[in-house]
Amino acid sequence: MRFVCDRRSFLVEMGLAAMAGLGLPLAGCDSSGRITEADVSRLAAQKRRERERSGKSRFGVHRYQGYRGLAELPYFEIDPRGRLKCVLEDLPPIIDFHTHLGIAALLAPGIDLLADTERVRHFLDCDATNPGCPLDLDVYINANFDEQDLETLEWETLGQLFWGSDFAATHTLPNLLAEMDDCGVQRSLVLPIALGLPFGDHLADDWTAAIDTSNAGERLLPGASVHPRDPDAIAELGRQAALGARAVKLHPAVQRFYPDDPELDPIYEECGRLGLPVFFHGGRAGIEPEYNRRFTLIRHYEAAVGEHRNVNFVLGHAGARDVADAIPFARRHPNVWMGIHGQGIAKLDELIDELGAERLLFGSDWPFYHVAATLAKVLIVTEGRPEARQAILAGSAGRLLAGVRARPLLRQLPRT
Ligand SMILES: [Zn+2]
Repeated sequence: MRFVCDRRSFLVEMGLAAMAGLGLPLAGCDSSGRITEADVSRLAAQKRRERERSGKSRFGVHRYQGYRGLAELPYFEIDPRGRLKCVLEDLPPIIDFHTHLGIAALLAPGIDLLADTERVRHFLDCDATNPGCPLDLDVYINANFDEQDLETLEWETLGQLFWGSDFAATHTLPNLLAEMDDCGVQRSLVLPIALGLPFGDHLADDWTAAIDTSNAGERLLPGASVHPRDPDAIAELGRQAALGARAVKLHPAVQRFYPDDPELDPIYEECGRLGLPVFFHGGRAGIEPEYNRRFTLIRHYEAAVGEHRNVNFVLGHAGARDVADAIPFARRHPNVWMGIHGQGIAKLDELIDELGAERLLFGSDWPFYHVAATLAKVLIVTEGRPEARQAILAGSAGRLLAGVRARPLLRQLPRT
């Protein structure tokens, strides 16, 4: 067993400790035994291997300069205003199953979620310079963050909690809708997160209210979120479902819980009763504080999905850097859907082969990344395979959403 307290991530740990209600130890080195030395080396090996293999599949090299650089592909153009646009004519009505809005929680001043800003500052702010940052589509997407970008990300993460993030101020509803328009996305699921803070922790209500006020409810589908240690979690789920939520986001790394912890069972059961899918952040991203990686190993999801077969679970990022474990996991559990966000081109191809496109859901993880980054990968991999393209971009999500008992958005939001 290796206990690491990652110093570089001290600031993020501080933020996460605040997120956890100021009640959890900072980067404490616990001895749960739920992550092993072998797990740690597998992640390091995955990072090495994907770097070596990038560009070596039958799809060739796909490295671009910034998101704007994607205009080199036949699917995109830069319009007269300098915006990247998808120009493919026969796109299906795309559903993006993984987006977020600007985060302002704890002490951070609120964001005007209805503001239109000059440009979006994605957390991977690849178009900040001209030419843009190197963008490799054949590695796990966050491998494109360099050290400087990661420091900025840490700073902005804290800003979202304490002083307000300049980046988050651009993560607004009109900006999301404009990027959806540029990329042919019809509808997006907007996933909030309950951070477990002592106060200033109501992203789900803030975001649902913004969607409601802007009359964007046809295109932006709100999600719900509860913190597993919230004593009112069950009532909260019912309340958020009544406000129109279409899925429940749970993030084991940020919320610091093991998905198979029995304390989660009532939450999964309630999601089953409400007819709402559970959207998990799944697998290790490789850029989160090392302490938090123990929560998202794929084997920790096994009992949750195995014991709640009437609930649909989405594994966001298709297991991220643990995709090699996530594929057999999804094969074992027919109630698991895979969000494809983050996976590189060759992995996406493997996911189609191993699981079938009808289990895969398009997701951009906006505003971390431009929607076009994931769209480009899907278009490249599904060239000449219209059925797979249709399923990933629209069909799978349409089927999953059709089973959701959606309540109409309420105009008045009862506040707790
Ligand atoms: Zn996300």
